[in-house]
Amino acid sequence: MAYIVRRGAISGSLDMGLKQQALDAGVDIRFSESRHHLSDGGIVAGGPHGADAIGVGYLFDTGMADGAYIALSDKLAPQGYAWLLVQGGRGTLMSWMYADFHNEQQYLQRSLAFFRDKVGLDMKQPRRTGGAVNFLFPRSARKDKLFYIGEAAGFQDALWGFGMRYAMLSGYLAARALLTGQDYDRLWRQRLGGLLCAALVNRYVYHRLEYRGYGRLLRSIDQALRSGRTDVAGCMVTRHLIYGNASVFPLCNMHYHRTA
Ligand SMILES: Cc1cc2nc3c(=O)[nH]c(=O)nc-3n(C[C@H](O)[C@H](O)[C@H](O)COP(=O)(O)OP(=O)(O)OC[C@H]3O[C@@H](n4cnc5c(N)ncnc54)[C@H](O)[C@@H]3O)c2cc1C
Repeated sequence: MAYIVRRGAISGSLDMGLKQQALDAGVDIRFSESRHHLSDGGIVAGGPHGADAIGVGYLFDTGMADGAYIALSDKLAPQGYAWLLVQGGRGTLMSWMYADFHNEQQYLQRSLAFFRDKVGLDMKQPRRTGGAVNFLFPRSARKDKLFYIGEAAGFQDALWGFGMRYAMLSGYLAARALLTGQDYDRLWRQRLGGLLCAALVNRYVYHRLEYRGYGRLLRSIDQALRSGRTDVAGCMVTRHLIYGNASVFPLCNMHYHRTA
């Protein structure tokens, strides 16, 4: 149901793989150089320019067995979730919240205590990690000769904050539009529009679930998994918390004032 992806300037990470592919294709990469104007046009991939959700946590070494744990609780991560992932002696723990950012340290400390208590969290050489994401449903992801992709365009999964796939897909679609003259807005709407719309509706609903609702959601997913309906459980987590969401999308979009 989940993949663990290593990020950053470390051997074997997704980022290093993409960098190598770009170099092999003859791309000239310039590190530590900001560009604020692309006078000849091009693809803008500058990442988020606001914070709709933030994550605070640790990367660490550990003697724990592999495992993936997620906790839904406003005491650990308001309107979000806390997670602990362990794989091959490396771990990551994070409180991922959509509200009350000022008290981030308190939520992080509670998440640490929670996972210590529940699964015997063991952290060696902890390093702080974290960041922010933004999401919106743009009217257009293009301004003249500029094609906005990834979080620079607002392409982000509003429900859980999983934007990596959208960043890569929109990058591919923008490149295709540039090379072929196809309409970029039409391309991303066809491929990503439904997912972005469903995620925004799901975020609106999730905000309103509160503690008991989180429990009910987890029990439904558990039942689906136990009866072998992994596809149903996956959909509940990722796309379709509620059905017929296209009809309620305008209301949810208005709530977030997200149409840019
Ligand atoms: C802590 C954390 C955990 C996450 N976990 C997940 C996860 O488990 N799964 C998932 O799918 N997504 C996850 N995400 C979200 C995911 O990382 C982002 O949605 C995705 O990386 C967005 O890609 P991007 O290319 O749009 O932007 P970014 O990855 O933010 O890249 C933008 C790059 O542009 C550079 N830049 C900015 N301005 C300029 C400029 N003027 N000139 C030159 N360069 C510039 C930045 O330095 C940065 O390197 C997580 C995000 C965070 C913060």
